Amino acid sequence: MTTATDKNQQLFERALKVIPGGVNSPVRAFKAVGGTPRFVQRAQGAYFWDANGQRYTDYIGSWGPMILGHGHPAVVDAVQKALLEGFSFGAPTEREVELAEEILSLVPSMEMLRLVSSGTEAAMSTIRLARGATGRNKIIKFEGCYHGHADALLVKAGSGLATFGSATSAGVPPEVVQHTLVLEYNHIAQLEEAFALHGKDIACLMIEPIAGNMNFVRASVPFMQRCRELCTQYGALLVLDEVMTGFRVALGSAQSVYAKAIPGFAPDMTVLGKVIGGGMPLAAFGGSRAVMEHLAPMGAVYQAGTLSGNPVATACGLATLREIRKPGFYEALAQSTQSLVSGLQAAADAEGVAFCSDSEGGMFGFFLLDQLPQNYPQVMKTSSPRFNQLFHGLLDRGVYIAPALYEAGFVSSAHTAEDIAATIEAARAVFKELS
Ligand code: PLP
Repeated sequence: MTTATDKNQQLFERALKVIPGGVNSPVRAFKAVGGTPRFVQRAQGAYFWDANGQRYTDYIGSWGPMILGHGHPAVVDAVQKALLEGFSFGAPTEREVELAEEILSLVPSMEMLRLVSSGTEAAMSTIRLARGATGRNKIIKFEGCYHGHADALLVKAGSGLATFGSATSAGVPPEVVQHTLVLEYNHIAQLEEAFALHGKDIACLMIEPIAGNMNFVRASVPFMQRCRELCTQYGALLVLDEVMTGFRVALGSAQSVYAKAIPGFAPDMTVLGKVIGGGMPLAAFGGSRAVMEHLAPMGAVYQAGTLSGNPVATACGLATLREIRKPGFYEALAQSTQSLVSGLQAAADAEGVAFCSDSEGGMFGFFLLDQLPQNYPQVMKTSSPRFNQLFHGLLDRGVYIAPALYEAGFVSSAHTAEDIAATIEAARAVFKELS
């Protein structure tokens, strides 16, 4: 509700005058769900407080990075120490080597990686590297997968593009996406056909293993296996975009989940972001030494960054990784997440609301449907008015989920059983109004 003293509304009106849509990333604007975005004043643990001092239980966690919740003491301490040593040097530091070593020790498919500042940069640089390393131009992506906002990848990209109903963005010349083959997620026959037609020209296939940018849709095991086999057969690189799933769904990331089902499974390259920066601007891309050494200054593929490997961001990322690799961390996180989705499911069932959900580690998704969608066209058919009602009902009760239908949700280690129980009760009250 907006009142004369609603500081969120006052800030939004000020923001609208100076920032397009009042926000620095489109989905934050609440355009799809309507109403006033909450301006965050501060956050701690599983909560944030808005400009009116209202507390919310946060299931977005900065869209994934805050796996320990907000203001974890070990992370705050590491960041404070790093700040006092200097903000940015544009020269190598021991900490970036340590972070690279730490990540590589947890994701064995990568032998080398390079640090950058955003998932967009990491995915964009991966495409350039894959093209440079293979000498081929074509890339495969899937409808509903978002890999950041680099031109070549901004086609049927889920997330904000899906929210605003566009297939691609204005300002992307057709020539720039002419080498991007966009296929249906989980459609094996179409994938086989694309390789049969273009296999020798395909530099890489990029995929979100669990597509969090169309809410939560898993690549089926046979589909992922076929992606691996066809890339190997045709000499294309299999790239897993784990910006969202990396260290979020398991300590070994989503690739370790697929490796349990597909013996010997590993991607050729991995794109990481979000959790590895613990909430600071940090991302990475990596793969085999042979591929990575195509990067300048070793090889001819150029890639660079003023703030890459930033010393404060690497301190934040390292402190986060040291917490999440403690024994039992993912078991507890997965259990909290499962208790949330099963509680929501039971509440929806009791109120006769069509509802289905899925989760892996600390990532979850749900649809107001009887059955989980398998691909983007099915996701796009889901109804938004009921979702919007659910969103606002939860928001009014102090529960903050993504303000759009096409986004996954995130639980942190700071969410207690009481927080989750309170969220389920809030949802039960909203489901009563929905049914
Ligand atoms: N790849 C995936 C799977 C993502 O979910 C995102 C962002 O949400 C990106 C890439 C882009 O990352 P960034 O927003 O840090 O540029």
